[in-house]
Amino acid sequence: GKILVTGANGYIGLWVVDALLKQNYSVRSAVRSASKAAELQTLFGSYGTKHETAIVEDITSPGAFDESVKGVDGIVHLASPFHMHAKTPSELIDPAVGGAVGVLTSAFKCGHTVKRVVLTSSTASISQSSPGNHVLSEVDWTDSVKIVEEQGDKASPFIMYRASKSLAEQAAWKFVREHKPQWDLVTACPPYVFGPLFPGSSATLGSSMEDWYNTVVKGTKTADTLANVGAAWIDVRDAARAHVLALQKEEAGNERILIVTGHYKFQDWVNSARKFDPELPKGNESYKPEEAVHQTIFKSDKAARLLGLTNLLSMDQTSQDTLEDLKSRQLL
Ligand code: NDP
Repeated sequence: GKILVTGANGYIGLWVVDALLKQNYSVRSAVRSASKAAELQTLFGSYGTKHETAIVEDITSPGAFDESVKGVDGIVHLASPFHMHAKTPSELIDPAVGGAVGVLTSAFKCGHTVKRVVLTSSTASISQSSPGNHVLSEVDWTDSVKIVEEQGDKASPFIMYRASKSLAEQAAWKFVREHKPQWDLVTACPPYVFGPLFPGSSATLGSSMEDWYNTVVKGTKTADTLANVGAAWIDVRDAARAHVLALQKEEAGNERILIVTGHYKFQDWVNSARKFDPELPKGNESYKPEEAVHQTIFKSDKAARLLGLTNLLSMDQTSQDTLEDLKSRQLL
């Protein structure tokens, strides 16, 4: 089969393209510019005609994906802004929602061979900003949309990002309810994605890896933050594998699925990385992992059940491979 991947040049996107090609799919990688397309053609040149590129300059313009959905069996929609410097909510929400609805609209009108669309959502669309402990699963939706409605431009870029992911995912489910398309939808909700950048790519550290780098390599976090602040995570290669499984598994159709490896405090990453490079900053040496309390726990049994997503990479493996990649990029 042939799969359209949007945001193909991104951190996760490149690993998704790679995972698909390795499983013998043909891939059409959609990116925003000719230079990005050229880089992908080089990276995946060994696959010959099994890999092709499409340039979609503005994912929010009407019919933007009408051409690129033609002849594909499935779509993975990853393209969405992920950064923490938005000044207004619409800076993130417009491309997130517009891109998602745009891809689905094109798939509905022009994607006559499409059987499944996988939308990359996020734990951002689930996480709660209210204080206290939360045990969350696929039935939960973030309270960030409400906060953004109340605070507008004064909301933090982080909350704006959560709102953008939640609104995009909600718009996608609404589209499916209203149009009853010939394909089904799966939304994949990864937490913080860590792990090596795609080998040979000019990719730079995105929001999640920048946080890891600052924590582990630069040592910029306070002792208090290192011991008490954290989140959930998954390795980028497992996240990519989950996207492929989400395309393949019949039972995943019309499901929202959390794809989570585990939970961490930042010092856990410091400790893990120092096993492979003892010269890295020590961080908080009085931290006791066994006493760590995770304020938010994501239940992720659905991914194992519906996708067969098991044997996930360990924190140590992710740390080791990430450090190796950073060294190869002279970032360490
Ligand atoms: P990257 O920033 O590396 O990739 C984002 C991709 O989306 C790039 O291809 C980028 O293209 C494209 N994109 C961003 N904004 C726009 C826009 N306005 N119009 C068109 N394309 C756009 O991030 P990731 O690979 O980490 O993220 C990919 C997806 O995964 C996103 O949907 C993100 O929300 C989601 N996600 C990421 C997590 C993480 O921790 N990394 C966690 C959970 C979800 P360009 O290079 O041209 O800017």
